[in-house]
Amino acid sequence: ASDSGAAVVDASVETTDGRHVEVAANIGQPAELKPTVDRGADGVGLYRTEFLFLDRETPPSEDEQYEAIRETLDMFPDGRVVVRTLDIGGDKQIPYLDQPDEENPFLGERGIRRSLDPDSDLFATQLRALLRAASDGAGDLAIMFPMVATVTELDAALDALDTAAADIEECDADAVDVEVGVMIETPSAAFMAGELAARVDFLSLGTNDLTQYVMAADRENERVGDLHDPTHPGVLRAIHQTVTAAHAEDAWVGMCGEMAGDPDLTELLVGLGLDELSMSAVTIPEVKTAVRDTEYNTASERADRARLAATRSEVHTTLDT
Ligand code: PEP
Ligand code: MG
Repeated sequence: ASDSGAAVVDASVETTDGRHVEVAANIGQPAELKPTVDRGADGVGLYRTEFLFLDRETPPSEDEQYEAIRETLDMFPDGRVVVRTLDIGGDKQIPYLDQPDEENPFLGERGIRRSLDPDSDLFATQLRALLRAASDGAGDLAIMFPMVATVTELDAALDALDTAAADIEECDADAVDVEVGVMIETPSAAFMAGELAARVDFLSLGTNDLTQYVMAADRENERVGDLHDPTHPGVLRAIHQTVTAAHAEDAWVGMCGEMAGDPDLTELLVGLGLDELSMSAVTIPEVKTAVRDTEYNTASERADRARLAATRSEVHTTLDT
């Protein structure tokens, strides 16, 4: 590495040939906020709102959610904070929300599916809290929808956002300036990335789920752990398709799955065209250093070879040479 970790902490980073890559943090609980700032995150790329709903018996009120988001925005006066709307179901259970007993929970009522029905009231409350937080004071809030599989779901979510904006009395809804994005976690969303990106400002690849669904390998089942690996060329091709389609629509593309925090994969991800990488705070300085050590043109050629490989081991041979 050409820089010490300390040197990279405060700076925004670009490749040796001048391509800026945002390095942001994933937040899954309040205790993660301060280390995130200390380790020099440019912003928050994934704020998992589920934690606001845990360890209690009823959902947080609109005001409680507003306060939590406002506090976070205040900690990042110069950076973007991407807040994901409630993503329950699958591996994420909240006892008082009456989740169904499903045979295949990862293929069932998850994320946006539940927010549209049956949790539309919770969704509306959350969207109002977010829009109010965005309109008060400093900070740059973005709203992101999880587990989208269809354009129709996105359109319904955007309608709910418009309704929430119209319902806010305290502020001028037209003046609320939030970016809106979609997580790419299902193969359908990757295939439909162009149509999704045309409707929003950004996409963010959730490679934990995307890998699970592209490879048909449970993210929690160690017996298929070798298959649940985002460096399989099938997953790399889904990432490439997403980035290419989104850029053609002038949307930026981030990644907030675990893969984004692996400094050994930074060159590959920059080469695939990612504009933002979001990860747990601990790896931020290393990933920033790796971005600074990357030359985009070389990375791009190497990423092309990697994604066109036939096997995961060929991908790794390409990355190591
Ligand atoms: C993902 O699926 O990659 C993701 C970031 O979301 P989560 O891990 O919270 O499902
Ligand atoms: Mg996910």
